[in-house]
Amino acid sequence: MNFEIPDGARRILQTLNSAGHEAYLVGGCVRDLLRGVEPHDWDICTSALPEETEQCFADRRVIETGLKHGTVTVLEGDEPYEITTYRTEGPYSDSRRPDFVRFVPNLEEDLARRDFTMNAIAMDLEGNLRDPFGGVDDIKAELICCVGEPNQRFQEDGLRVMRALRFAAVFGYEIEEQTAQAVHENRTMLDRVAAERINAELCKLLAGQNAGDVLRQYPDVFCQFWPQLRPLVTLEQNNPWHCWGGWEHTIHAVEGAPTDVTLRLAMLLHDIGKPSCKSTDEKGIDHFYGHPAVSAQLADQMLRALKFDNKTRERVVLLVERHDTQLPPKSQVIRRWLNRLGSEAFFQLLEVKRADNMGQAPEKVQDRLAELDEIKAKAERILAERQCLTLKDLAVNGRDVIAAGIEPGPEVGWVLERLLERVLGGEISNERKTLLKYIYRKDEDGFG
Ligand code: ATP
Ligand code: MG
Repeated sequence: MNFEIPDGARRILQTLNSAGHEAYLVGGCVRDLLRGVEPHDWDICTSALPEETEQCFADRRVIETGLKHGTVTVLEGDEPYEITTYRTEGPYSDSRRPDFVRFVPNLEEDLARRDFTMNAIAMDLEGNLRDPFGGVDDIKAELICCVGEPNQRFQEDGLRVMRALRFAAVFGYEIEEQTAQAVHENRTMLDRVAAERINAELCKLLAGQNAGDVLRQYPDVFCQFWPQLRPLVTLEQNNPWHCWGGWEHTIHAVEGAPTDVTLRLAMLLHDIGKPSCKSTDEKGIDHFYGHPAVSAQLADQMLRALKFDNKTRERVVLLVERHDTQLPPKSQVIRRWLNRLGSEAFFQLLEVKRADNMGQAPEKVQDRLAELDEIKAKAERILAERQCLTLKDLAVNGRDVIAAGIEPGPEVGWVLERLLERVLGGEISNERKTLLKYIYRKDEDGFG
């Protein structure tokens, strides 16, 4: 696969070159071109100082994104391009941005500040590569390798520990041996990194094809920012449903879920409460009574600590809390849960239950997986038929209830709820005539 450099990026490189400055594509876009993957943005580095870059683009819209750090954003058409002056970086003491940058005259010094060899390749307009650290070979070998001395590089910015794992999970690359050892050794550097930066890398990591292998190889790194994972990593479970310990089961469950952040977070955290709920019966079998509620509580705390947005956090917590809910494949049960959770969360719950089963003894789960398919098909039919699932869908409303003789006030809502309950349960049909017959007061006995 070959991807064209967009015209906008070409024009920017040309403009800088014709004003006598060096300019290259650099970083993620060059790496992705070499991997045969379409780049999602096009970063440019240049020998021009920020003011000189601005002068070159005086006729375009220019945003002074990070002037202090040497970055100017130029709009070509509607596309923003970041143009950054060759620079080196000082330490990241606020863990967000380097304390200071120093502009440097040559490309190699700029490439040397970058994290991994695959991210330290530059390409000019003709497609010529500048690759002083052997990034092309590492891409061919599918290796993630620090530029320079790994320990030093992770100590400059602890986020690089997470970036290494993220690239391993997303690309399916191995982390080169010395870099991998330094990842383990420098994991405590994450303590100094802002939660938002860890969060962003973790989300990309979990959505990666190879997230499972990374969890398997680097549990210590995850425990560094989420110490609540520690007891799960060592949890043994002697139980006929489980052929793996807590961590390996969790990893299989993550791998069994679609590559979606909410679902993968739910799987990573669904059993986090198990260690504190463990009991062993007289036959030596382990039980984990009440673990979903404990897991949900811990998950809430962990997601808050990493500053997840409310929507993601609340949904993950709900899925964790419900992951063990018994769901017999009956229409009335399915309607009740669709009513309670809404269709989006309900289908996510089915995915969670499927993934959880993928982490259990394979010979035991075939029937359950078939049952989940049946539930999904029935739920889809219920929605396609637009069956009644909420008060809004009922064929009568509050006015009808009042007209039938119920006092206006809270009792009207109570009556409607009872009607809905019976419709969901399949006891009566959602027809006006039928529903009107079933209206009764709270202090009456009602029907059946
Ligand atoms: P993505 O495909 O996710 O955008 P990327 O490699 O482009 O990956 P960016 O965060 O966009 O990642 O960073 C652009 C480039 O800046 C990287 O390719 C790398 O050269 C450099 N870089 C980014 N973050 C760091 C860091 N923490 N330490 C060193 N270099 C970094
Ligand atoms: Mg990028």
